[in-house]
Amino acid sequence: MGPLLWLKMIRLVIAGIIVYVVYRSLKSLFAPSGRVSGNAPGGTPRIEGEDLVKDPCCGTYVPVSSACKATMDGKTLYFCSRECLEKYKRETS
Ligand SMILES: [Zn+2]
Repeated sequence: MGPLLWLKMIRLVIAGIIVYVVYRSLKSLFAPSGRVSGNAPGGTPRIEGEDLVKDPCCGTYVPVSSACKATMDGKTLYFCSRECLEKYKRETS
């Protein structure tokens, strides 16, 4: 093999690696996480040693300690934010 052919082959391999790396990063960028439905702040469905509660308004899972609590009809409900709490109150009353 002549040196020119080697150069072509090396360039082809490098181009292939670049395409592969770009493809992989794009794939991970657009791949759905598929673990949580809704936009959980923090992104993880479970926090070590803490219970997650579902916001009945938007479906987000929030840790009990940082959730907005509200008692309705004798039941304690947890919301991700004050906004969701108010919205839920308005929709159910
Ligand atoms: Zn919410």
